[in-house]
Amino acid sequence: MSGELAVIGLGPGDAALLTPQAAAALERASDVFGYGPYLARVPMRTGQQHHASDNREELDRARTALELAQAGARVAIVSGGDAGVFGMAAAVFEAIERGDPAWRALSVEVIPGISAMLAVAARVGAPLGHDFCVVSLSDNLKPWEVVTRRLAAAAEAGFVIALYNPASRARPWQLGAAFKLLRARLPATTPVVFATAVTRPDEHIAIVTLAEADAAQADMRTLVLIGTAQTRLLRRPDGSAWLYTPRSAA
Ligand code: SAH
Repeated sequence: MSGELAVIGLGPGDAALLTPQAAAALERASDVFGYGPYLARVPMRTGQQHHASDNREELDRARTALELAQAGARVAIVSGGDAGVFGMAAAVFEAIERGDPAWRALSVEVIPGISAMLAVAARVGAPLGHDFCVVSLSDNLKPWEVVTRRLAAAAEAGFVIALYNPASRARPWQLGAAFKLLRARLPATTPVVFATAVTRPDEHIAIVTLAEADAAQADMRTLVLIGTAQTRLLRRPDGSAWLYTPRSAA
């Protein structure tokens, strides 16, 4: 029996944004691993085992999944959004690099998903229409000084910035510190998007200026997008707005 491991991005929440390839791989799996809330989105087919684990146990989860695949099971590991963007895919390769050399012969397939930034951008217009960068505000896996250095460089280089993991109960002050740093480098009118639980029933999106941006508007379900001096806000008659970053740089 030859096992396999599929690392699957589930998209931002709406089942319509799960790709057909991801759905087929989930259907094929005998065992599905993931953080509990993500796993809850996967319909369980008869005979399929679901293994829920905590958010912080990614490397252990990857090792257990690899062991099961080695034993011949058809294993899937799921992440929200795209598994390669602050998700399980890198944890799987880290486990392979450090683990049993025989794991390198396993069939491992990474199946892409729609990352939160793409779903958020599509909701508000085209804010990622020109060069952009993506930063996780979590300092669980890197020192805070690395985050501030990267944010300062990104703002000065004129990148639109997508901030993942902007806040959680354990990390309450980081987003406020990030806004302070950005206010010193970008115009006060720079648009900022707070997009929470996008494509889920409790979706909430607000577009404000950098001067108004209040870190209390974000929680662990929020993606924060910070525009550039070029990002345009188009007001609509109903009071809503589109946001886009022109394709040509100033
Ligand atoms: N692999 C995921 C990201 C995991 S990190 C992806 O590609 O989207 C978790 C962070 O993703 C959250 O803190 C939040 O910043 C963002 N996120 C995930 N789903 C989201 C959604 N539906 N709406 C807004 N932000 C989301």
